[in-house]
Amino acid sequence: MIKNFLIEHGEYHDDKCFKDLTTLKMGGHIAHFVLPNSVDDLKAIIAFLKSNKINFKVLGNGSNLVCGESDYNGVVISLKRLNDYEIHNDEVYVQAGVMAPALANILAKQGLSCLEFASGIPGTIGGLIYMNAGAYKSSMADIIKEVLVLKDDELIWLNNDELNFSYRHSIFHDHPRWVVVAAKLSLIKKSPEIIQDLMADRLRRRKETQPLEKASAGSCFRNPENDFAWKLIDAIGYRGFSINDVSVSDKHSNFIVNNGDGKAQDYLSIAYQIQDKVKEKYNIKLVMEVEKFNC
Ligand SMILES: Cc1cc2nc3c(=O)[nH]c(=O)nc-3n(C[C@H](O)[C@H](O)[C@H](O)COP(=O)(O)OP(=O)(O)OC[C@H]3O[C@@H](n4cnc5c(N)ncnc54)[C@H](O)[C@@H]3O)c2cc1C
Repeated sequence: MIKNFLIEHGEYHDDKCFKDLTTLKMGGHIAHFVLPNSVDDLKAIIAFLKSNKINFKVLGNGSNLVCGESDYNGVVISLKRLNDYEIHNDEVYVQAGVMAPALANILAKQGLSCLEFASGIPGTIGGLIYMNAGAYKSSMADIIKEVLVLKDDELIWLNNDELNFSYRHSIFHDHPRWVVVAAKLSLIKKSPEIIQDLMADRLRRRKETQPLEKASAGSCFRNPENDFAWKLIDAIGYRGFSINDVSVSDKHSNFIVNNGDGKAQDYLSIAYQIQDKVKEKYNIKLVMEVEKFNC
């Protein structure tokens, strides 16, 4: 019954694993995976799943998730087919499934300043809004005008000041069943060369300092106030520490990487050991930025 319904509303798969769908490349089999064809299809799917009390999880690019090995019996919904955008003077309307680096490059070529800070963040616009993702002292909160939200089976626009943005937090953390469908982002005219040079420089710095050649979910921990998680991890001697096929990166100690066949349980054992040692030595509680799912 579920399968037939989902097939009517999108591209359907029953052979996917989280390992295939996350940048950390870990995690077990997903009973039902669907990419809705349109916003109406997304609405129909969510309404169906809620009325039948079927668990679901919305996925962006899976770049902030550590997923467990056990089978997930619910439905994973990818918004990658909701990938339209339209530029109107000083704003861009963009659907949630568009990848942030792709949009950053399109805007840069047209001399539209907006997403430079996010050009190296490998997530979708929906995932970046959920996380209020940021870098170089900017974050999504700085560029969002409004977000179109599927909330209680209704589509509504919420203004920036209704989205409770703070450091790596948005209102969506408190409402896991709401779905970001689209957003309007502010644009400022600048020289394409200046924007592109800035993005190239930042990408070069990322390549120098982050293990982009390895599977990861980005920074494991948030930076505590007035401190850096990587410094604390170095100070407890965990740079390079490994369990089975999972390691604290030698290049950037706030990245925990999968060397091939890594499992979530090893990732989390390392993360919990780091939390315990940092608490013991410095009385600082490191909070995970990466989200655990189905663990
Ligand atoms: C190499 C690397 C570098 C990174 N650098 C940075 C960085 O500089 N700054 C930074 O902030 N992060 C960084 N990240 C982390 C990650 O890319 C961000 O957290 C990003 O916002 C996640 O987006 P996503 O689309 O992959 O979301 P996912 O990982 O797919 O999902 C994350 C959460 O968002 C929810 N979600 C996704 N889409 C929607 C939607 N449309 N509606 C409602 N909920 C949704 C999911 O259910 C999940 O709870 C990095 C990650 C990697 C791998």
